[in-house]
Amino acid sequence: MSRPLRPDPALPATACGCDASEVRGGLLTVDAALAACTDWAKAVHGTERAALAEAAGRHLAGPVAAAASVPPFDNAAVDGYAVRRAALPGAGPWTLPVGLRVAAGDAPAALPPASAARILTGAPVPAGADAVIAQEDVRAGGGMVGASRRPAEGVNIRHAGEDMRAGDIVLRGGRRLSRRDIALAAAAGADMLEVRRKVRIALLITGSELRKAGAAGGAGTINDVNGPMLAALAARPDTALVAHETGADDPAALAAALARLAGKADLVVTTGGVSVGDEDHLHRAIAAAGGETRFSGVAIKPGKPISFGRIGPAGGALWLGLPGNPLAAFVGWHLFGRALLCALQGGTPRPDTRLVVTIADLRHKPGRCEMRPARLAGHDGQGRALVAMDGAVNSARVRPLAGADGLVLIPAQADKVRAGDLLEFHPFDDF
Ligand code: AMP
Ligand code: MG
Repeated sequence: MSRPLRPDPALPATACGCDASEVRGGLLTVDAALAACTDWAKAVHGTERAALAEAAGRHLAGPVAAAASVPPFDNAAVDGYAVRRAALPGAGPWTLPVGLRVAAGDAPAALPPASAARILTGAPVPAGADAVIAQEDVRAGGGMVGASRRPAEGVNIRHAGEDMRAGDIVLRGGRRLSRRDIALAAAAGADMLEVRRKVRIALLITGSELRKAGAAGGAGTINDVNGPMLAALAARPDTALVAHETGADDPAALAAALARLAGKADLVVTTGGVSVGDEDHLHRAIAAAGGETRFSGVAIKPGKPISFGRIGPAGGALWLGLPGNPLAAFVGWHLFGRALLCALQGGTPRPDTRLVVTIADLRHKPGRCEMRPARLAGHDGQGRALVAMDGAVNSARVRPLAGADGLVLIPAQADKVRAGDLLEFHPFDDF
C-alpha cells in the first residue's frame, strides 16, 4: 500500500464496531477500507448539459441561481375578490362594485377606486389591492360583492419573492440532484443544468463455471447472477456501463481484459477470483495488467475478499474486486461501489442509515462486522421500526436478499444480539 490508511473523519461512520484500529485480524476495517477507496477516487473531470427532466441523480457542476423571483409577482392564493382595505371604512358590512376580473395569465390594470376585482387563483393581484377575500366569505351577485369581516392586510396573497429572490443560490454545486430538486430548479427558471459527466463503469464477471443466465450450459456450470445484478445496480443516471464482459479463470486472459477495460472506464468492477484459492487469479491479473492492489480483505461478512486497487497510473481506472458469491458481491457494491461512485462524482455521501430494533436473538461470531439482509416488520410500542432476519446467512443464497428491505449491520465485536437491541439499518434505495 502506497500510503498509510487513515480513515477520513469526513466519512460517515458505518458503526461497524470500529474502534480506532484500522486492521482487525489481518483484515482492513470497513471504515479504513472506505477511506482507502475514497482517497484514490478523485472526481472525474468534464461536465455536460442535462435537460431538467433527465437531471435527477446527476451531480451539479456549479450552483443554480434563481433567474427571477418566485413567485414573480404578488398573486391570489384563492379564488375570491381583491380589495383595497382603505375602501372598507368603518365596521362594515360593505358592498363594492366588481370593477375588474383577473384570471391566471392576465396582466391586470390597476384596481379602480372604491371597487373590488374578481380574482382567480394564481392571477396577479392588481395594483392598489392589498387583500383577497375568499369567495366563501362574500355575498356576490348583480355586479356587486359584499363582505362583513375586515380582511387582514395581505391575506390570501402570495407575495413576489417569498419562495426565492432573483439571484438566490437555490442549489449548490456538487449536489446530487434529487427528484425534488428538479422542481426547485424549474421554479428557479433553469432549463438545462451543467452536471458532471457520467462515471464510466466496466464490468468483468469472472468464473469458468458461469453461463449466461437462461442459456444452456454443460455439467458443472451455473447461472451468472452477478452480471445481471451488477448491471442493474450500476445502471444509474450518473453512470454509463461501457462494457459488460465475462471471463474464464485464466490469468493471462483476465490480465488482457483488465488492461483493455481500464482504457475505456473510470471504474472496473470484477466479481469472482479475488480470494486465495488456486483458481483465484484476479490479484495476479491486476499486477500483470500494470495495476496495483491497495487492499485485499475487509473485516466484513459476507465480503471478506473484497479488494480495491487501480489499473494503470494514478488517474487511470480504479478497480473494485468483488467476491463471486452473489450476496457478498451485493454487499460489496452496496458499501464500496456506491461510495466510489459518489467520490468519482465529487459528491459528499448522504447518511442513509437509521437504527432499528431486532425482534429476535441473533448469534454472531466476533471478528468481522456482518451485513445481513433484513425485513421491516412493523413498529414497537415506542414507534421504533422492527426488523426480522434469518438466523444465519449463507452468502451463496440470493433468496434472502430479494425478500429484504435493507441490510442490518451487526457490529464486529458483538457475540450476541438480543431481541430488542438496536442495530444500524441500511435501507435499499430502489423499487
Ligand atoms: P469465487 O469468489 O470466484 O471464489 O466464487 C465464490 C462462489 O461464487 C463460487 O461458488 C462461484 O461459483 C460463485 N460465483 C462466482 N461468480 C458468480 C456469478 N457471477 N454468479 C453466481 N455465482 C457466482
Ligand atoms: Mg471462482
